[in-house]
Amino acid sequence: MMSSKAHSGIGMTSEGTRQRLVRRLREKGIRDERVLEAVGSTPRHLFVDEALSSRAYEDTALPIGRGQTISQPYVVAMMTQAVMRDEPLGKVLEIGTGSGYQAAILALLADKVFTTERIGELQRSARQRFHRLGLHNVYTRHADGLEGWPSQAPFDAIVVTAGGRIPDKLREQLGVGGVLVAPEHAGLHQQLVRITRTETGFEREELGAVTFVPLLEGLD
Ligand code: SAH
Repeated sequence: MMSSKAHSGIGMTSEGTRQRLVRRLREKGIRDERVLEAVGSTPRHLFVDEALSSRAYEDTALPIGRGQTISQPYVVAMMTQAVMRDEPLGKVLEIGTGSGYQAAILALLADKVFTTERIGELQRSARQRFHRLGLHNVYTRHADGLEGWPSQAPFDAIVVTAGGRIPDKLREQLGVGGVLVAPEHAGLHQQLVRITRTETGFEREELGAVTFVPLLEGLD
């Protein structure tokens, strides 16, 4: 299933460079082989400006314009690993499409990915990338992600890729057994939290300190 869904369009960056990134993520503790395979088959250089493409397989965040960044591959892998479970993921919601890289990884691991971005320009470029890469199971909207995507709820997983206060409205869109992963605001940095919806309520775990661009209200 993975290989038939894997991205084509390796283009200018060699398979070797990408596998080096996968090795690095493995060394840093990413254990889920499905996640590592998704990173290994996703052409990250197509998610950044051409001028930065030679740095696309470094394990670092990079600017994508409008003051925003494509997340560091390790953080993308860690957040993705945090929402994985034994059964395949059905519907996943992402808040903060940015370049579209995190959504592209999720698209290889879930039936459908719904992703919202508040900056219209970024949402449009990401949509073109999904189209070009043949990721027909990614649905994007220029919308304020703080509202979630109520018409598509419930979700098996919600991934928030900007840091701030997590509105209750979002976790309410999880199905039972579903998980939300988000950088929650805590001073200068954020704490990555995982909230699991149980039959009776919500469970919360802390996964470590992270740094993300802020979660903002309204559209731009
Ligand atoms: N997942 C992205 C990371 C992008 S950075 C990637 O893989 O490239 C986070 C993004 O969240 C920014 O593009 C920012 O504009 C967006 N964002 C911030 N607040 C938001 C909100 N309330 N709704 C939707 N998007 C938001």
